Amino acid sequence: MAGILFTGCSLASAAPQAGAPRRQVRVGGRLVKTVDVHAHCLIPGAIEMMGRKATGNEALAGVSLNDRLRAMDQQGIDVQAISINAFWYAADRDVARKIIVLQNEKLAELCATHPERFVGYASVALQHPDMAVEQLEVGMKKLGLRGAAIGGNVNGEELSSPRFAPFWAKAQELGALIFLHPQAPSGVPELGKRLQGNGFLSNVIGNPLETTIALSHLIFEGTLDRFPRLRICAAHGGGYLPSYAGRSDQGCLTFPENCVKGALKKRPTEYLRQLYFDSLVFTPEALRHLVAECGASQIMMGTDYPYPWTRTSVDHILGTPGLNEAERLAILGRTAAALLKIPA
Ligand SMILES: [Zn+2]
Repeated sequence: MAGILFTGCSLASAAPQAGAPRRQVRVGGRLVKTVDVHAHCLIPGAIEMMGRKATGNEALAGVSLNDRLRAMDQQGIDVQAISINAFWYAADRDVARKIIVLQNEKLAELCATHPERFVGYASVALQHPDMAVEQLEVGMKKLGLRGAAIGGNVNGEELSSPRFAPFWAKAQELGALIFLHPQAPSGVPELGKRLQGNGFLSNVIGNPLETTIALSHLIFEGTLDRFPRLRICAAHGGGYLPSYAGRSDQGCLTFPENCVKGALKKRPTEYLRQLYFDSLVFTPEALRHLVAECGASQIMMGTDYPYPWTRTSVDHILGTPGLNEAERLAILGRTAAALLKIPA
């Protein structure tokens, strides 16, 4: 049965099936092409190149294509932007190259077969930045992928490290959307001991914490000043950063001796408005707050499919008070369509 379980992004059993009708989403009578910027898949055979099998949670991403399409139809998702969570950062150049080639080609194949339903983020071997630059370029120019998905750190190295500057430069040059997602199994493995116990804390708070740390370094180390046109979309609403953003501004005012004077061009919270965030924050109040801190123009729908965190992302956006029609249209799909070059 493993073959069926792990079909992932393969083209097997792609025949359309009769099922629930496809939900169409309207805002004020206007039809909107909805886009989910946060959806995962698994390419059969890729994790095995690391000399191990997929863990339970990794294997979950290997949902069949029919199940994926059915869920999208039911939930009112027209287009998924598909990514693969980084599991290859420990790989040497040779293994990393093979994994990335397989994943990018297979994902591109899926997208080409269903161009109205899927776009893809390239996988890149960020631990070898020169390779990552090339993989991003090949992925976008030759394979039609729309950006890249990366983890919040690379073997403990922060994304603000100068070593990654060539990657950021290429991403900016290509107009890539970079989807920033915490790595499995735990966002902050250094905290593993404290995140044990009931509640899956390594995920529930470890993952958003990882994103918070990653974004904070990109802000405070000046990466976002050096690459001001970079398009980064952070998963899970940017973790905790937008929830407690004011503290980032106050830190250097309160303890200037801990900050490099003139290191940043703007107040730390102003960088939230040059980043993007998915809408996966669960409640109308949380989404209202995310919009208040970051701007409606910076938020795009994210479901985390096939991880069953939510099945109501569309309704969450439709039901959040205080948004006007243009803002709802933007969050549901228009912003993502522009960034991911999805035709109307
Ligand atoms: Zn996810």
